[in-house]
Amino acid sequence: MTETMSETMSKPNVAILGLGIMGSGMASRLLSVGFPLTVYNRNREKCIPFGDASAFIATSPREAASRAQIILSMVADDSASRAVWLGENGALNGVSPGSVLIESSTLSVGWVKELEAAGTQRGCEFLDAPVTGTKTHAASGELLFLVGGSADALDAARSVFSVLGRDAVHLGPTGSGALMKLINNFMCGVQAASFAEAVALIDAGGLDRGKAASILSGGAPGSGIVKRIADRIATNDFTPNFALRWMAKDLAYALDGASRNGVALQTASAALSVFEQAIAEGLGNEDFSAVTKSPRRLSSS
Ligand code: NAP
Repeated sequence: MTETMSETMSKPNVAILGLGIMGSGMASRLLSVGFPLTVYNRNREKCIPFGDASAFIATSPREAASRAQIILSMVADDSASRAVWLGENGALNGVSPGSVLIESSTLSVGWVKELEAAGTQRGCEFLDAPVTGTKTHAASGELLFLVGGSADALDAARSVFSVLGRDAVHLGPTGSGALMKLINNFMCGVQAASFAEAVALIDAGGLDRGKAASILSGGAPGSGIVKRIADRIATNDFTPNFALRWMAKDLAYALDGASRNGVALQTASAALSVFEQAIAEGLGNEDFSAVTKSPRRLSSS
């Protein structure tokens, strides 16, 4: 037996539900290292390149789940996640007991806990494992997984996490990964919203945008997120790596998670209203950094 064949035989069958910006990168990465892969996407056209690259194209999440021991979902939001897991053709109707179900989308803590209960009823292990990193990290296996659930389930899925990520950090029971991700993104969203307001003031005050952006990104406010946005402003390229509407979604879920824990996130509320205004201006499908394109004028001026 060749080494390649023995490696293939030791790899579990994996199903990926959702081939958007992140799911498509993750699927490519799994195929590139020889995992037997089944893919499902609502819009079937996005599956075609993966079929050409030897993945099996499932016609429903249920069929995808029936072919895999590890089922990973990477879709937009709570309602998309409900759509792929629940219902007659949902993945939960196709799973075999003992499978590991991984939800890597950024979702509300409440829904993730409901999903874990439904998966457990089917005799499956469940992990909430959202990620940090973006399009390029998904395709190159450099994501950071933030994991909630049992240590045994994490061990059972290690072979997949180690190919898709630089690390998988175990944060505690179900919901811990989801909560950590929402905390991470609420801080990113707040910084992006404050940069959007800074850009509006730079422009309105007649300052040079390029000079001002380089002072901010090279100085104390220059976090990773501020630097990323400054690069986008400099190149005037807002092609989505992470869609603006998903940042608004994450801020809303963070606010929900905080209120369930009796915590007030005032900066997240303010940032959410900045993002909602940008969505109302038609910027929702652009990269989240396009929030800096919103003019942010006082209504009286
Ligand atoms: P995306 O490119 O917009 O893809 C969204 C995916 O969800 C698509 O596969 C879409 O299917 C599917 N979907 C949406 N509504 C659905 C529904 N009702 N039923 C079934 N499928 C549905 O988003 P993304 O950037 O890959 O993000 C995916 C998740 O990862 C989100 O939760 C996001 O917050 C999170 N995330 C993103 C990044 C990033 O940098 N992009 C980083 C970390 C985490 P169709 O193709 O049929 O529309």
